[in-house]
Amino acid sequence: MSDAAATSPNNLDAFWMPFTANRQFKSNPRMLVSAKGMYYKNAEGQSILDGTSGLWCCNAGHGDPRIVNAVSQQIAEMDYAPAFQMGHPKIFELAARVTGMFPSGLDHMFFTNSGSESVDTALKIALAYHRARGDGARTRLIGRERGYHGTGFGGISVGGIVANRRTFGTMLAGVDHLPHTHLPEKNAFSRGQPEHGAELADELERLVTLHDASTIAAVIVEPVAGSTGVILPPKGYLERLREICDKHGILLIFDEVITGFGRLGSPFATEFFGVKPDLVTLAKGLTSGTIPMGGVVCSKGIYDAFMTGPDNMIELFHGYTYSGHPVAAAAALATLDCYKEDGLFERANEIAPYWEDALHSLKDVPHVIDLRNLGLIGAIELEPIPGKPTARAFEAFLKCYEKGLMIRTTGDIIALSPPLIVEKSHIDQIFDTLRTVLKEVA
Ligand code: PMP
Repeated sequence: MSDAAATSPNNLDAFWMPFTANRQFKSNPRMLVSAKGMYYKNAEGQSILDGTSGLWCCNAGHGDPRIVNAVSQQIAEMDYAPAFQMGHPKIFELAARVTGMFPSGLDHMFFTNSGSESVDTALKIALAYHRARGDGARTRLIGRERGYHGTGFGGISVGGIVANRRTFGTMLAGVDHLPHTHLPEKNAFSRGQPEHGAELADELERLVTLHDASTIAAVIVEPVAGSTGVILPPKGYLERLREICDKHGILLIFDEVITGFGRLGSPFATEFFGVKPDLVTLAKGLTSGTIPMGGVVCSKGIYDAFMTGPDNMIELFHGYTYSGHPVAAAAALATLDCYKEDGLFERANEIAPYWEDALHSLKDVPHVIDLRNLGLIGAIELEPIPGKPTARAFEAFLKCYEKGLMIRTTGDIIALSPPLIVEKSHIDQIFDTLRTVLKEVA
């Protein structure tokens, strides 16, 4: 290839795209070039309604000038500062503001750059915590089938998605999994939290019997599993998990990378469900997707266990070059201002019943075998084409894009999670488009 061809904007070859059918994309590229409010614009000038907040992250919508200004001012003022043995005021302010949004007792925050890093960080803190207390035999980690915890080795090990695991070797040792809570035969077409399945939490007792509590460090679950197709916690399930963890001295980690920052109409799932974990992983909505940033919020008890060692030592040998990045911190502070000033979590809560009714209006549409929702999350499960799993939903994705709507599919499930600034007219557009498309697909 000539140099000119290699550097041409039409050369799509060099970028190896993540979680993408690269060859297929490159024969039919979908190129987004700008974004404002609820809409993207593509290279053809067409408006694309954002039905998914990008990848579940742009909770404040796109291009809010308060975030844009905060970021550009911060880059001009101080582009970077390390957080190893140094600090800058904004990151301390941000940690205090985020932890202030949690119930008291979840008082400390470690910063990362992504959900995957947050998960690895939380798992490492859990292991190191037990060791710091002289309980270092607790090394086992428990995840859940159909859990998604990012793509680090820790995350894919505790995660429960075969496609993300099978080609990458042996995974972390000493990991086991709870069963998932997707029970379509009992809970199909539930509105909100499903009635059936709380007893699945008791599987943790079975794992305790099998492995012995003294070997188990932590359980990690998404309060609502998003990426594997919106799997909701049955009523009473999370409470039961908390009880069993308490009984056996096991830490409970909530992966709130998706449920955090208003997705359920509360600041966090922790408050929404009234169940307090020991560690919470965050990312995405922390900066409304504008600048990569994640974090782990942890209990006072965990933090204090590290702070009681000799005071000249580094308490946790862990961190990233960009932990507490000042530009990300500025973006996050401005994002929290947007949430607060515009009452976006309350808004999400207010519009959720309209969202629910609109989603469930698809009940009799062809191929629809389940509809699920909570807060501003929705899922439409389609009957798979025999011998061609995922094909029907992917066709729907392509057709929605052609008609100006961004959705997300996983297997034969369409997942929806609009920005919290969504209006009723956008909700109508989302479901009118889907109704038309689902009648057209094979
Ligand atoms: N945990 C959960 C629950 C997620 O949904 C995701 C991303 N979808 C991650 C972790 C990983 O986040 P990232 O892609 O930022 O690494």
